[in-house]
Amino acid sequence: MYDIIIVGAGPAGLTAAIYARRASKKVLVLEAKSYGGQIINTLDIENYPVEPHISGFDFATRLYNQAKELEAEIKFEKVVDIKDNDTNKEVITNKSTYKTKTIILATGAENRKLGIENEDSLVGKGVSYCATCDGAFYKGKDVAVQGGGNTALEDALYLSDIAKTVYLIHRGNEFRGDTSIIEKLKKKDNVKFIYNSIVTKLNAKEKLESIEITDINKKTSTILVSGLFIAIGRVPENQNFSKIINLDESGYVIAKEDCNTNVAGIYVAGDNRVKEVRQLVTAVSDGAVAVKEAIKYINNN
Ligand code: NAP
Repeated sequence: MYDIIIVGAGPAGLTAAIYARRASKKVLVLEAKSYGGQIINTLDIENYPVEPHISGFDFATRLYNQAKELEAEIKFEKVVDIKDNDTNKEVITNKSTYKTKTIILATGAENRKLGIENEDSLVGKGVSYCATCDGAFYKGKDVAVQGGGNTALEDALYLSDIAKTVYLIHRGNEFRGDTSIIEKLKKKDNVKFIYNSIVTKLNAKEKLESIEITDINKKTSTILVSGLFIAIGRVPENQNFSKIINLDESGYVIAKEDCNTNVAGIYVAGDNRVKEVRQLVTAVSDGAVAVKEAIKYINNN
């Protein structure tokens, strides 16, 4: 019987593991993919206090090592269900079933898709959701980025140093991302801004050759690009908990700043929670808060 099972080894989950181990709790972290979550794709984190520049990979690796040094048990298994029994809770993975007193859901969110034909089959053949992972393949080539948030802006900036031309395509006429990045992009001669438009078609033989975009007047045009980077936000990964955990209409776990879900002893931490600010600092903060709440529950029961 574990004290706390943490689902997800991103910044929120690993921070929860550190706090739980420092409180001498028996902890298991379960992760379906690799540690680090979405932050692992960020090239340079500039807004984390004390550390003015650190790559997402280094940040995640240091966090993972910190949790391991504190002897948090971490297993790479996919959680497929959770159960709330009278005397304990169960976490069911693709390999096993674990019993625990409390659960912290820290599964984060995955990339939102455009939902157009061949989007999945062209991943790795011109379509990407991670500029820092795949950008180097497009040295000297023409690429496009779809999106208007910080991820799209950062992707466009990163790609502008590698690619010949970067078409930054946004469905609105005003970016949602930070002005400071927009100003940097405006100084780049090879970044072309396309507003009020969405990529509606991918033209490819074996690899992507061009994209069709459609503007708000339904006018279509074609742009020759070898790469399309899709950065249109993320979708929370909470589907496997929806039988017992209350989610909002977008799929985020409904919880306030105390990270309590509708089920006593089950908490949520990080980007998969309903919240105003989804940032690294708020994710790690949730990890600490959720553990404090879990320990309160263990002590009272
Ligand atoms: P986001 O802020 O939610 O922005 C998503 C963008 O995609 C929006 O511009 C949205 O358009 C557009 N979009 C959504 N669905 C679309 C669709 N179906 N078709 C076309 N466009 C669509 O997502 P994000 O950029 O991934 O950022 C997520 C969070 O992480 C944000 O809080 C962001 O500030 C944060 N972040 C921070 C940093 C940093 O601080 N260094 C870096 C990256 C991300 P509309 O604007 O029209 O809704």
